[in-house]
Amino acid sequence: MRRLPFTREKLEEIAAKWPTPFHIYDEKAIRENAKRLKKAFSWNKGFREYFAVKAAPNPQLMTILKDYDFGSDCSSMAELVLAEKTGNTGEAIMFTSNDTPAEEFAKAWELGAIINLDDITHWDFMLEAVRPAIAASADPEGALASRVMCCRYNPGPLKGGNAIIGKPEEAKYGFTREQLFECYARMKEAGVRRFGLHTMVASNELDPEYIIDTARMLFSLAAEIHEKLGIDFEFVNIGGGIGIPYKPGQKAMDFDYVSEGIERAYKELVSGAGMKPLRLYMECGRCITGPYGYLVARVRHIKNTYRLYAGLDACMSNLMRPALYGAYHEIVVPGKEDSTETSVYDVTGSLCENNDKFAIQRMLPVLERGDLVVICDAGAHGHAMGFQYNGKLRSAELLLQTNGEVREIRRAETLDDYFATLKW
Ligand SMILES: *Cc1c(COP(=O)(O)O)cnc(C)c1O
Repeated sequence: MRRLPFTREKLEEIAAKWPTPFHIYDEKAIRENAKRLKKAFSWNKGFREYFAVKAAPNPQLMTILKDYDFGSDCSSMAELVLAEKTGNTGEAIMFTSNDTPAEEFAKAWELGAIINLDDITHWDFMLEAVRPAIAASADPEGALASRVMCCRYNPGPLKGGNAIIGKPEEAKYGFTREQLFECYARMKEAGVRRFGLHTMVASNELDPEYIIDTARMLFSLAAEIHEKLGIDFEFVNIGGGIGIPYKPGQKAMDFDYVSEGIERAYKELVSGAGMKPLRLYMECGRCITGPYGYLVARVRHIKNTYRLYAGLDACMSNLMRPALYGAYHEIVVPGKEDSTETSVYDVTGSLCENNDKFAIQRMLPVLERGDLVVICDAGAHGHAMGFQYNGKLRSAELLLQTNGEVREIRRAETLDDYFATLKW
């Protein structure tokens, strides 16, 4: 059974002030985890994690991560603005987007972000989008030379995939190998002098060897491109995708183990090959905040038909992963952790969609109306995936601070928010 950072009494206290459902994040655990990651990779000078903003786009959480020098991995206008407003600008932003609109390239350029292209045609498209900014700058000639340009590699059949992100050759992202060589050559020709190389091939991956292999693949490729085109890379970015143990019995990724494996690869393929030092970047979201966020709800109804249902006051608009991917999330009933009386439930929300279930045929302590229920591992791709279908409103986000006090970091939506965009 999962240990929670709060007791039932504490939760009831919180719920008296912020009615369920709400998301709550554990600041202390987020900080300890961030520290652990940073320490694990300290062998690499310039190592940086760019937090994937889409996983938990809340400025208060981003600000906590900034204490550990985490940058922001952004993929949309809103995420760029969030990074800007939390004080991450310049090369503290990695702009990794796809099917990108011109105005987002322009915004990323204006902020001085590292721009990571998703396709070879985006190079000309981006140049067009930033032309006015370059023309208006103090040094139009040198503008390209001072910027870091990066390309996203899709290894296709050279690398196996996994369930969430799919097989690389079926994924819409990134360049083929041949396109990479061509694009870096064209960028060099145009006056770009600073380069990075990126890939993102996994999602929710729990096998450390997969992550280590990804780094090996990029180190070798950087060496090959360097050899062929004479360009030096400043960094390789191995993407996000480190998984978390959603299911009982799964094991969290050991950052030290992954780091040691990558360091060995680095010594062999980078230092050993006489390459200039490379900074290692990653852009994880899930493993940074995922295990440290909880969706707290209350049992609204118990229904006994062909199955036993526990209907919550939360629904898939608060946490879509179970409905979207059949994902497993542990459910804890505070105060009943040690209960020996159990029943098997489908734990549902109130959407008019039968897949609106947080758990299917799950053994839980016997539930009653009013019981608090905690859905674990909701701290990444949880609230962020919220939506308003069926007139459901997005919940509040709370922070359990290091000092034990609770602070609201996003208020719950109201009906006025829901109606605000309508023309009557
Ligand atoms: C979603 C995404 C991430 C973060 O993925 P996690 O599984 O949360 O670590 C990083 N980079 C890109 C490009 C993404 O699309």
